[in-house]
Amino acid sequence: MNTPAPSAGAPIDRAALPALFTPRGQDTHKGSFGTVGVVGGGPGMTGAALLAARAALKTGAGKVLVGFAQDASPLPCDLLQPELMLRDFRSLLDEDWGVTAWVAGCGIGTGALAANALSELFVLRRDAPLVLDADGLNLLARGDIRPNWGTGPVVLTPHPAEAARLLGVGTDQVQGDRPGAAWRLAQRYQAWVVLKGAGTVVCAPDGDLRINTSGNPGLATAGTGDVLAGMLGSLMAQKLPLDQAVPGAVWLHGAAADALVAQGTGPIGLTAGELADAARALRNGR
Ligand code: AMP
Ligand code: MG
Repeated sequence: MNTPAPSAGAPIDRAALPALFTPRGQDTHKGSFGTVGVVGGGPGMTGAALLAARAALKTGAGKVLVGFAQDASPLPCDLLQPELMLRDFRSLLDEDWGVTAWVAGCGIGTGALAANALSELFVLRRDAPLVLDADGLNLLARGDIRPNWGTGPVVLTPHPAEAARLLGVGTDQVQGDRPGAAWRLAQRYQAWVVLKGAGTVVCAPDGDLRINTSGNPGLATAGTGDVLAGMLGSLMAQKLPLDQAVPGAVWLHGAAADALVAQGTGPIGLTAGELADAARALRNGR
């Protein structure tokens, strides 16, 4: 906090992200593309976890499991995406499902069940990459969970109000110096920070700052943050180098929204669930 934060960052654009477009090898199988575990979706927020999980699958993860933050899974199956494996969080955390990247916090709520589930996950993940989003960040800001998440990569994905809660300042202060806010959070938590909003700022744990160039106000709608969290977990599960996986998911998410707007599916009325299909097309060179 004593060192002044840098004030600008290099742009995140397609040219800097070749790993997003690397063709699959012929001799691959679903195990080659990782297993994403989503822990979230408390009562009344089931959809947040489903949006993250569907986006993880459609951006290329080999397998995707959901552990709902509820006593039992609210659904036996996602009928729109039956490839997903739906469990309650206890089942996901107690058994070894071979998860290679975790997405936690989407719609998880701020109660004791959520705090306990996340604290447990921080220990059991060992070095698997972790995305912490939404109420996971609010629990961290309140001190209800501690950042003892070990040494594997961690990506924090606050929107400006969540970043303000984490920093103990007003949202206007965050917005007044977005690179500085992202940089301070990255320093404090020794994590990747994705400070969302127009011109999303990505800061690496070593302080390297970059600014996203894709995206538009069509993204200002419910669930788009959950979709981004799923994409981040997916690209990390697929073992893209971290310095492409994190900015790559941010760019892909914005570029998917730009593609939808270009075809008239937004900005007005764009829905979060549509982003995953558009992102899939982009990864396949369409
Ligand atoms: P959340 O607030 O967690 O649902 O996340 C919203 C997502 O939409 C983030 O990825 C934001 O960066 C993105 N977003 C929201 N509004 C805009 C905007 N006006 N321009 C670009 N991206 C936006
Ligand atoms: Mg959110």
